[in-house]
Amino acid sequence: MAYIFCIANQKGGVGKTTATVNLAAGLAKIGQRVLLIDLDPQGNATMGSGVDKRAMTLSVYDVLLESATIAEAAVIPKRLQEAGVGYTVLGANRDLAGAEVELVGEPRRERRLKQALAPVEADYDFILIDCPPSLSILTLNGLCAAQGVIVPMQCEYFALEGLADLTNTIRQVHANLNRDLRRIGLLRVMFDARITLQQQVSEQLKAHYGSKVFDTIIPRNVRLAEAPSYGLPGVAFDPAAKGSQAFVEFAGELLRRGLSA
Ligand code: ADP
Ligand code: MG
Repeated sequence: MAYIFCIANQKGGVGKTTATVNLAAGLAKIGQRVLLIDLDPQGNATMGSGVDKRAMTLSVYDVLLESATIAEAAVIPKRLQEAGVGYTVLGANRDLAGAEVELVGEPRRERRLKQALAPVEADYDFILIDCPPSLSILTLNGLCAAQGVIVPMQCEYFALEGLADLTNTIRQVHANLNRDLRRIGLLRVMFDARITLQQQVSEQLKAHYGSKVFDTIIPRNVRLAEAPSYGLPGVAFDPAAKGSQAFVEFAGELLRRGLSA
């Protein structure tokens, strides 16, 4: 069965989407079957995987509203395949913003994604869910479907702010909705070793959270930021870039560790 991970942090701009698309590409590169699910109405992971969010006929919106299955709505972008990092994408666009309202009052509304995944789970080794920057019903759908959460963090002064809210939400989801959710891993991203403060925060994180902090550190690397405008993850756009190599290394770490901390 697939390992299912949410990439979540209620802060925006911390590197969730970059981590999701590059981890998907990194895992594909080492031979894993990957499904990426975009749960953010901004559709950045969709575009960053080479799928035009404006041209999609079916998306994760239709899946949550139960008018399409994942098998019907997901695609394998040709550009990814050509780049040797073929993974499947269940895309999102602005329609998804409406799902929030449309699901109010619906039964089992936080379990829609989990139910939709059941018939396709065996087709994948990893399912990665890119969450929006909020603790909304969309993120809740992600957390209800997942066994683990990957939290991208910048090693800055306020890095730990908000982490308590997130871990609290995860604890509540674990207690009330999803007993399978049992792993939280902190991923240090956009790291600049020349900045003393970042090194200090990085060490504090490790001291505080121990094995919950992944060994791999993702450096700040402009190639990762440039790649989305080409509709590719950095791992495919420039495999030799430091940031791309770090994500392939991270894919290996995740494969090795699975759900164990
Ligand atoms: P989120 O999904 O959390 O909002 P993004 O992944 O979209 O965050 O990242 C926010 C911005 O930071 C984007 O412009 C992205 O290209 C850039 N970025 C993310 N990770 C890196 C990195 N390791 N090095 C350089 N730029 C990065
Ligand atoms: Mg994002």
